[in-house]
Amino acid sequence: MNWRYLIPASFSAMALVVACGTTDSTGEEDDEKGPDLSDQDLTVPRAAGPLEFTEPCRAGKRLTIAAVGDVLLHSPLQKQAYERGFESLWTGVTRIVGQADLTYANFEGPAAAGVNSSGQAVRDPGLVFDNAVYTSYPMFNYNPGLIPALQTLGVDVVSTANNHAMDRRSLGADKTIEAMKEHGLPFTGTRPSTEPDAPRYAITEKNGFKIGWIACSFSTNGIPDPKKQVLMCFTDTAEIERTIADLKTRTDAVIVTPHWGVEYVYTPGKDQKDLAKRFINAGALAVFGGHPHVVQPWEKVTAADGREGFVIYSLGNFVSGQTPTPRRASLVLYLGLTKDGAGKVTINGARYVPLTMRSWTVEPSDKAENSSETRNLVETMFGKWNAMGSNDALTTTPSCR
Ligand SMILES: [Zn+2]
Repeated sequence: MNWRYLIPASFSAMALVVACGTTDSTGEEDDEKGPDLSDQDLTVPRAAGPLEFTEPCRAGKRLTIAAVGDVLLHSPLQKQAYERGFESLWTGVTRIVGQADLTYANFEGPAAAGVNSSGQAVRDPGLVFDNAVYTSYPMFNYNPGLIPALQTLGVDVVSTANNHAMDRRSLGADKTIEAMKEHGLPFTGTRPSTEPDAPRYAITEKNGFKIGWIACSFSTNGIPDPKKQVLMCFTDTAEIERTIADLKTRTDAVIVTPHWGVEYVYTPGKDQKDLAKRFINAGALAVFGGHPHVVQPWEKVTAADGREGFVIYSLGNFVSGQTPTPRRASLVLYLGLTKDGAGKVTINGARYVPLTMRSWTVEPSDKAENSSETRNLVETMFGKWNAMGSNDALTTTPSCR
């Protein structure tokens, strides 16, 4: 099937470049060409040393945030989920994701019940991959049962701003928001078509920490967004900076989750690095990136006023149907925060557990079969100093014990 006929020619060329594709073994979705990588450096950047922050052992209240990458359900994953439950996609990581105080994931695609790929309301098929309402690449849509399943995994907040946010047009973005509200899952990065002034940030409260979340996307794959529902990283930057500054006065920490970068490339571009620096300078404490389908490095970024910020340029695919080894390698990131008696919040440390996706479930790499390549890739990039085993007790400050 030539998917280019599914969408109008006016934006098919752009979708060809930036859609999140797959080369799954069923062969039904292996028509993705992807970006031209001929002028890209495709070596895996090697961690130079441990990632450390000043005063990891500072006294105060603590919060550990977990972050996982893109939740991108290609057809084999949806088929499995609709038959055996969404949990079947991640049973092996329930404990390591759930042990953090607060967990973030990128929700890549609409969860719009009864909406077809033209953005029209039709009869909903239920928990069935009908390839009409519930579809895969190049225009995704998931049964909203995915939302409570992620909550059961421990996910507390998601990004809905990504290049698939408009895959069911305005109606799909609205239905996705309605489903998030119905299940009480905070989301960030999109707003209802009928509420042009609705905020596109979220605020979570846990263990005495108020965290502000702001998601944005580099693109909507050329699909029009006439009501400006999706916050755009590179064209709405000034608005994002103002929101960061505002939230900084009302929360303990602000985290920005941009959807950006070149697919399949391990090194962040200058555009990503410049934007991350702007977000940290505007007052963000951390930046969790996604979209490239592979992991990209982390680093400490010090703001002009001396604050220490944390940036990970790409968390990789958390769950996807993409089968090449680098696209099956990701991590669960743990970022530790400390709040002192005066209310000052700093980062105390960052750690991670390498993950491997196999057909079709994600597992810790130290438990997954044939995972030495995915594990080596992640440990090369982030270093063994900050790595954790899947059975280790969670701490972001092992040196303080
Ligand atoms: Zn994406």
